Amino acid sequence: MDTPQSFYQTNLETDITYLKGVGPKRAEALQKSGIETIADLLHHYPRRYLDRTTIKSIAELRVGDEAVIIGKVSAFGYRKTRKRNFFQMVLSDSTGNLQCVWFNGISWISDKFTVGDHIAVFGKVEFFNGFQIIHPDFDMLDKDEDPVNTGRILPLYPGGADLKSVGLDSRAFRKLIKTAFEKIGKIPDYFSDIVVKENALLELEKALRQIHLPDSNDELHSAIYRLKYDEHFFLQILMALRRKSVRELQGRIFDKRGAFVKELYRQIPFELTSAQINVLREIRKDLSSPSCMNRLLQGDVGSGKTIVALLTSAIVIGNGAQVALMAPTEILAEQHYKNFKQYCDKIKIVSAMLKGGMKKSERTEILTGLKTGKIQIIVGTHALIQSDIEFQDLGLVIVDEQHRFGVDQRKTLIEKGWNPDVLVMTATPIPRTLAITYHGDMDVSIIDELPKNRIPIKTKVTEPTNLENVYDFIRKEIKNGRQCFVVYPLIEESEKMDLKAAETGFQRFKEKIFKEFKVGYIHGKMKADERDEQMESFAKNEIQILVSTTVIEVGIDIPNASVMVIENAERFGLSQLHQLRGRIGRGEHQSYCVLVQRKHTQESDYRLNVMSRTINGFEISDEDLKLRGPGQFFGTRQHGYMKAKLADMVQDGAIIRQARHLAFQIIDSDSHLNQPEHKQIRNRFLREYKEMIPYINIG
Ligand code: ADP
Ligand code: MG
Repeated sequence: MDTPQSFYQTNLETDITYLKGVGPKRAEALQKSGIETIADLLHHYPRRYLDRTTIKSIAELRVGDEAVIIGKVSAFGYRKTRKRNFFQMVLSDSTGNLQCVWFNGISWISDKFTVGDHIAVFGKVEFFNGFQIIHPDFDMLDKDEDPVNTGRILPLYPGGADLKSVGLDSRAFRKLIKTAFEKIGKIPDYFSDIVVKENALLELEKALRQIHLPDSNDELHSAIYRLKYDEHFFLQILMALRRKSVRELQGRIFDKRGAFVKELYRQIPFELTSAQINVLREIRKDLSSPSCMNRLLQGDVGSGKTIVALLTSAIVIGNGAQVALMAPTEILAEQHYKNFKQYCDKIKIVSAMLKGGMKKSERTEILTGLKTGKIQIIVGTHALIQSDIEFQDLGLVIVDEQHRFGVDQRKTLIEKGWNPDVLVMTATPIPRTLAITYHGDMDVSIIDELPKNRIPIKTKVTEPTNLENVYDFIRKEIKNGRQCFVVYPLIEESEKMDLKAAETGFQRFKEKIFKEFKVGYIHGKMKADERDEQMESFAKNEIQILVSTTVIEVGIDIPNASVMVIENAERFGLSQLHQLRGRIGRGEHQSYCVLVQRKHTQESDYRLNVMSRTINGFEISDEDLKLRGPGQFFGTRQHGYMKAKLADMVQDGAIIRQARHLAFQIIDSDSHLNQPEHKQIRNRFLREYKEMIPYINIG
């Protein structure tokens, strides 16, 4: 129990309304921005800083500058040209005048200024009867707050219309935060002095003070480092707890090698790569241990994940349990089923696929087979575990192309009374720093080696004017017995036009350019059986050129195809190009990828250059991460785990590794954060990750 004294004392958990300057209206607006306690306020970090070095006087301005100017409001009001109304404010400093202009919907701005106001404005400088900035960003300053005169670094705070409408601009935040610091007294650190020292961190209190009221740029950087560290640390605590929760589940022991595995090895027509062998060793260790497997298998397209999944399944089945293989789409599931069945039939493992739209009798037969244990491997989409299906003994779930097997999916299984080992496979290489952040709760295995018989694909970027040569080249390849893909982009926003372009291309190839060959066409809007028919013909080399929209991205294996032309390659993202290209180079022939670039932007030039430089999926994903940030690698839901305000997944590799090490060490020694020295960590963790509590075992 709190003593009465500490009860009345202000601390981090104190409600924001206890602060002077926060009435009910402001409290409501703050709450909408997620600020309810003093802690929340102190973690509301500045969006940028003003300091002497970033400010320009009006006389120093040049057209095109992105500038910060501090001055006084000398005039403002509505103006009119023949064409339109606008609002103008004139800002003056000792060197000149600057016009700030707002067009459209300008009523909100009309009561913002009084003559003599001290303000800072930001924006791009233009020239129109003198210097002007259109729609500048601006902040009110107090007289004693001008960094040019005071030498201070001045924080500016984020805040939408909600906050501004109750007067909570940067100036108000600076005041509130100052008041909070005066009230609050000492802020306890989550970390011991030793940890702070060993990791060269600023103490928490100092970091919080410095991020809001920096004494110097150096202090500010140290503060940002410390608070970034904290963000990564608490995410890694989540990862450590989740990993622990899975580990604590009693799993099965699958330690018999069994006849199926032996027979399967006999059937495999190639030697496993050493990467495949290493991964299998890791998996076998998981299978034979009494805790649950929760493993992510990463490997580039064509690296041979399927055979690893099959061998894993064979072990589990040899120990008397069943396997479910789930893919995100039915096409992909079918592809897997075909691959699996081919081997399963030979070694007498009973496999089946569950599809949507099956005949009732067929479906019933499969369901019965699963219930009695007659069916040993079932392939399907994620519906497999969501529906009313019963297994006799589900021992392993293999999930393909889903970046994680969600904790909630695991929970669903457990609630149904199963606790299978889980193997997640992905061909999207995830940059290392992201892998330990987002998959920090899984063990990761990597196949980083392609089968030896693979010849690296050659890739060239080409202009449309060079297409005749490309077509000649294709003719030559086809005459040598090879086949060719031509891929057109298709995105939802321009679906109609994109489909038409692909269709037109197909007609032109068929009737003119490649008259002498058979040309096929598939697209996503096609009926499944029509598409299958075309694919089948292509697989049998009855069709030499297959024109398609991006549908071939998913698992298609035609080793005889040696050329891929990607039209409008500048419209594809890096990982998509990489996935597409993975459809060739799968056989014994040298393969070629031609990227037809019809538009140049700096970024697309860069992307296509990366593609022609490397075929290494990890290198490509690193580049992709640099270009587009981490969001694209994960669904929005997963992305939500990261409560980052300062953290940067691209730049923070070193911090992430340190913070992870510390977090895992702590959870290893105190798995429920119950020890008194971890109380602060526990409190902040529970505050930040409330919604995860049902999925982790934190006592
Ligand atoms: P992934 O699923 O990783 O994209 P697959 O498992 O489909 O790759 O393998 C691609 C092709 O390579 C398949 O035809 C497979 O039979 C073959 N393959 C797998 N491992 C090897 C190996 N060690 N040596 C030669 N070929 C292999
Ligand atoms: Mg096990």
